[in-house]
Amino acid sequence: MKNFFSHLECGFCGEIYSKTKIWNLCIKCNKPLLARYDIESARNVFYKDVLKTRDKTLWRYFEMLPIDEQKNVLSLGEGFTPLIKAEKLESELALKNIYIKDESLNPTTSFKARGLCLAISKAKEFGIKEVSIPSAGNAAGAMSAYAALAGMRAFVFMPKDVPEPFIAECKALGAEVTLVDGLITDCGKLAAEGVKKFGRFDVSTLKEPYRIEGKKTMGYEIAEQLCWKLPDVIIYPTGGGTGLVGMWKAFDEMEKLGWIDSKRPRMVSVQSTGCAPMVKAFNEGKNFAQMWNGAKTVADGLRVPAAVGDFLILRAIRESCGTAVAVTDEELIEGSKQIGRTTGIFPAPEGGATLAALIKLKTSGWIKSEETVVLFNTGSGHKYYNLWK
Ligand SMILES: *Cc1c(COP(=O)(O)O)cnc(C)c1O
Repeated sequence: MKNFFSHLECGFCGEIYSKTKIWNLCIKCNKPLLARYDIESARNVFYKDVLKTRDKTLWRYFEMLPIDEQKNVLSLGEGFTPLIKAEKLESELALKNIYIKDESLNPTTSFKARGLCLAISKAKEFGIKEVSIPSAGNAAGAMSAYAALAGMRAFVFMPKDVPEPFIAECKALGAEVTLVDGLITDCGKLAAEGVKKFGRFDVSTLKEPYRIEGKKTMGYEIAEQLCWKLPDVIIYPTGGGTGLVGMWKAFDEMEKLGWIDSKRPRMVSVQSTGCAPMVKAFNEGKNFAQMWNGAKTVADGLRVPAAVGDFLILRAIRESCGTAVAVTDEELIEGSKQIGRTTGIFPAPEGGATLAALIKLKTSGWIKSEETVVLFNTGSGHKYYNLWK
């Protein structure tokens, strides 16, 4: 198998970078780089039909992923998670077409596995031996898992008030964990020192171009699972926004491949009222988000006060005629419990946030009862055991 990865391009200024070198942010404008593919050539050989014989992991879309040689693929069975029709939930809400994309079934029980699987595979391809991440949750566990598989040293920097299971997971997977008396931004500074001093590869959200390529496969999967007809609405719990931006990119790629038409879902970004920089920027009509002071929410994945890809998130929401919604921590916990008791899925609080947003958007009339809606349950509730007592 051959991929069609051709080069990297700055998502803001359009500067082009060679795919054969290691890059982080754009050296001109400090914005995220995006992987680009030779889709003209791909569309002559990469047909939807070939998927029928492929593994049920995200690697089924190998042609449109940035790993050049198959021997560098690190896999723990990530991706191709179920898209479940939530019938009991539909009847409780008087809605007709509600699906849950259950990402809790990924390795390390969250969709972070998709991104880190790609980033660490690419690090392997570059011959990198040490990887590093500042993280307040699931990303650190996912990085630790793939680094363990690759035989790399993994360095994790976490705020010391992170719920214990997140820390325990990294340690059990062999990572070297530094607990920091401060916020995620302080962890970022410490991690950056090690990156500079020891040449470690920094896999912070959107500071390297490969994690988003793993996350974009959620867009390919939804299309494939709904027989190449995209839903009307996708509700996504947004922190750094890689999944939302990634899916938006995937839809574009699939249209160019000739797999789907130009119809797009309305993309909804949901955040917690305790940390809602995207919602604020969206409502104010801004292209960039301001740093959110005093970020506080039980949904760790949503506690991201400043996202480097803010302009990409806002662009995708607006181009799709979507919207952004903030829900309280009480609402998102209640949302998780309602998903739990109606579907048997044990969701992360971030997943519960998507249901809380759906309820608000249904009440306001923004979502109609017959529309097809996909909720993203981005992780499992297990690591947040304190919330369910
Ligand atoms: C990281 C995370 C999110 C946010 O994902 P982004 O793509 O960074 O916006 C949502 N839910 C969970 C469970 C997470 O771990």
